[in-house]
Amino acid sequence: MKSIAATEQTPDARGRFGAYGGRYVPETLMAPLEELERAYEEARKDAAFRAEVDQALKDFAGRPTPLQFASRLTSNLSGPKIYLKREDLLHTGAHKINNCIGQGLLAKRMGKQRVIAETGAGQHGVATATVAARLGLECTVYMGTEDMERQRLNVFRMRLLGAKVVGVDSGSKTLKDAINEAMRDWVTNVRTTHYLLGSVLGAHPYPMMVRDFHAVIGKEAKQQILAAEGRLPDWLFACVGGGSNAIGLFQEFLADANVKMIGVEAGGRGPGLGEHAARLAAAAEFAGGKPGVLQGTYTYVLQNSDGQIAKTHSVSAGLDYPAVGPEHAWLADRGRAEYTAVTDEEAVHALRTLAVLEGIIPALESAHAVADVMQRAPRMSKDELVIVNLSGRGDKDMEILAKYA
Ligand SMILES: *Cc1c(COP(=O)(O)O)cnc(C)c1O
Repeated sequence: MKSIAATEQTPDARGRFGAYGGRYVPETLMAPLEELERAYEEARKDAAFRAEVDQALKDFAGRPTPLQFASRLTSNLSGPKIYLKREDLLHTGAHKINNCIGQGLLAKRMGKQRVIAETGAGQHGVATATVAARLGLECTVYMGTEDMERQRLNVFRMRLLGAKVVGVDSGSKTLKDAINEAMRDWVTNVRTTHYLLGSVLGAHPYPMMVRDFHAVIGKEAKQQILAAEGRLPDWLFACVGGGSNAIGLFQEFLADANVKMIGVEAGGRGPGLGEHAARLAAAAEFAGGKPGVLQGTYTYVLQNSDGQIAKTHSVSAGLDYPAVGPEHAWLADRGRAEYTAVTDEEAVHALRTLAVLEGIIPALESAHAVADVMQRAPRMSKDELVIVNLSGRGDKDMEILAKYA
């Protein structure tokens, strides 16, 4: 794969990664986004802010996470040497807390008293409510009423943490309707309120800022693999919903030409439009992934031939979204990262395999990355080194798995 020079690594001044990214929003959102961009630019250069983030990642979230050698999976596949980056061990059970801590502390620095967030399955809502409680911020989470019904336990968790959960009853009553409501709230209350967006999506500066808050994953992994093996890995694997855990792992390795990067999307029930959430792997076999604008950014979006946003499906809620982060679209175009998809069934099989071989029940999202490694392993040699990002743990997925039994 082609390397990317260190000087090329940030988006340009307009927030563009090549042709992708940018700021496609109504006039009313321009001022809040510019205020956020200025505040973030100052904060990232401030050693005291960075120290505060690092401290919270360590004491509250549980960083650094281990890089564990998966010895039984490795010998079972008799392929490459596989290491797991254990983001599943973090507080609230996934990588999402990295970004919530960063944005929560930034909101406080900006003098905001309140954060708002959108959530689909509830995982980002729980992480946001958790950090808001810790930092003494008011918290409102928007959630489609359909999702609230499906994810009652997470609604309960958020309320227990002191957050207000507002049901959104319009449209499909799911994530995209919740995002629209959160946007409306932000425009109305911007003086007091920060919008804590949950992945590398949305208008500039979100894709850059969320990436930066997750870059700690790859920074730790690089040091850890060098300590364990004395050299860089040959492969990185991560699942891609919006793309935040993947970009967090990849970022530190972009300039290392010999490190191959694989982003694994949701292949769902198969390649037909509406059956999957493979935006970038689409080019090869999955239908519907084309450049377009969704929720403020220009990127690959699943759409029908009229340009209408397509329905999506995945067994894992975290991968079930029609758009992908703009930096991934750019990495795909540049040939720096490769994107592929595995099906629901393959992901469930990988989850079970990791459970019995390693004593780890991964999130169904993370199991997609494990599944792709398992499929490629027979074609790899024993001296190759692989790092798989285990973005989260599977406790939240027990009901879904029970249906698969
Ligand atoms: C939310 C979530 C994802 C998907 O989000 P990305 O932004 O693509 O990382 C993946 N894994 C887990 C465990 C999640 O909770």
